[in-house]
Amino acid sequence: MPALPSVTLLGLPVHAITMAETLAWIEAAVTQRVPRQICTANPEFLMAARRDPEFHRVLAGADLVLPDGVGLLWAARYHGRRLPERVAGSDLIYRLAELADRHGWRLYFLGAAEGVAPAAAAALQARWPGLVIAGAFAGSPGPAGEDALVERVRAARPDVLLVAYGAPAQDKWIARHKDRLGVPVSLGVGGAFDFVVGVAQRAPRWVQRLGLEWLHRLWRQPWRAGRILTAVVAFPLAVLRAGRGQD
Ligand code: UDP
Repeated sequence: MPALPSVTLLGLPVHAITMAETLAWIEAAVTQRVPRQICTANPEFLMAARRDPEFHRVLAGADLVLPDGVGLLWAARYHGRRLPERVAGSDLIYRLAELADRHGWRLYFLGAAEGVAPAAAAALQARWPGLVIAGAFAGSPGPAGEDALVERVRAARPDVLLVAYGAPAQDKWIARHKDRLGVPVSLGVGGAFDFVVGVAQRAPRWVQRLGLEWLHRLWRQPWRAGRILTAVVAFPLAVLRAGRGQD
C-alpha cells in the first residue's frame, strides 16, 4: 500500500484522505488480504489516548486513521496543515455497503445492543440487495467468551468487519484479534449501527455541513456532555498548548 499523507495531532497521525480515497484504499486492502485496521478518530479519541497508553498504541499502529470529527480538521488548519474532509464512520458504512454489493464482499456486523447489528445489516441489504451478510452479532468486547467470539467471526470469513463497541473498546478489540481473525479490513464504527437502524438520529445535513454535529449530539444525548466538553473545550486547549510548544 502506498504511504498516505498524515497530519500529527497531539502526537498521533490522522490521515489526510477523502471519502473517495478511503474507498479506494479499502478496495486495495480487500484485494491484498493482509489484516488491516481502520480507526474513525475524533477529538475525544486523541484526548482519551493521552491517558490510555494502550489506546495510544492502537491508534499509532492503525493502518488508517480517518478524520471523523470536524475538530480534527480545525486543529490541522491551526497547525497550517490540511485534512481535506471529514470522513465519518456513519457515512462510510453506507458507501461500504454499496461497494460490497458491487464486489460481492462479505460484511460482518459486530456489536451494539442485542438485535441492532442484524437490523442494521437487514436495512442495508434492503437498499443493496446484492449485499452478502457474513454475520451480524452483538457479542461483547469484554474478555469473557472472547475466544469463542473471535472463532465465530473468523469462521464466517468476512472481507470487511464492522465493530460497534464504541471507542476505545472496539479499536482495542480489533487490534488484539486482527491477526487471528484474518479479515482484510476491520474498522470501529461507534454508533453507526444505531444510526442505520434509527435507534439514534444524526444531525440534519445542514447542521453537519456547518460542522455542528457535536452540538446536535449534545442536544439529543445530554448525558454525553462530559465527552462533548472534552472535544470542544479540552481538545482545542490541548492543541493550542501543543502549538505553543508547551506540551
Ligand atoms: N456498545 C456495545 N457494547 C459495549 C459498549 C457499547 O455494543 O460494551 C455499543 C453501543 O450499543 C453503541 C456503540 O457501542 O451501538 C457505540 O456507542 P457510542 O455511540 O457511545 O459510540 P461513539 O459513536 O460515540 O464512538
